[in-house]
Amino acid sequence: MFINIHTHKQIYDAKVELVNQHPESTEKSNLYSYGLHPWHLRKEDVMWQLEQLARLSGEKNCLAIGECGLDKTCPVDFNLQTEVFERHILLANTIRKPLIIHCVKAFNELINCLNMNDNAVPVIIHGFNNNENIAKTLSDHGYYFSFGKALLSYDSNASKVIRKTGRKYLFLETDDSDLSIKYVYKKAAELLGIEEGILQEQIKSNFELLFNRTL
Ligand SMILES: [Zn+2]
Repeated sequence: MFINIHTHKQIYDAKVELVNQHPESTEKSNLYSYGLHPWHLRKEDVMWQLEQLARLSGEKNCLAIGECGLDKTCPVDFNLQTEVFERHILLANTIRKPLIIHCVKAFNELINCLNMNDNAVPVIIHGFNNNENIAKTLSDHGYYFSFGKALLSYDSNASKVIRKTGRKYLFLETDDSDLSIKYVYKKAAELLGIEEGILQEQIKSNFELLFNRTL
């Protein structure tokens, strides 16, 4: 069984495809997450988008809040990003749903933000492709990792750290790429040196525990 924990479109390539949706989107997939991506924030739209987000995120097929987070490489004002991210943390904790995080070059700020807001819901760092030190710090906080297309290149950070982040904290994703999640599983199993069946079982059990559902 394949589980794609973060994708931008439903293509029925996996049993579970958690599709990232913007609260303004009218399309509905089977299972989804709602969030405001830091890249696309505009001060004048944020207030009502957050209201929309709060209204929709209670839906039972909305399994998580995100992707949301912080990105120091994008031109959007960092204070605005932080403000909006904090609203996502508070919302996720109110409705008790995990957070799916986008984070680029702002991991310290990310951890601070989560701690200062007393975050108690699971955190999934999506598209992880950073070095071992960052992975270790995030692991120490009990965060989950989702790996995607970076696993395809052997010398990427993702390929190097996947063995160290712990199988119980592992998810896989395709994000906005056209890859098949099945290929990401194949690569991950190779890098971990385990049978693909074992990897499938592990991620299934991670999913069931985290989202409190049986597949
Ligand atoms: Zn994404």
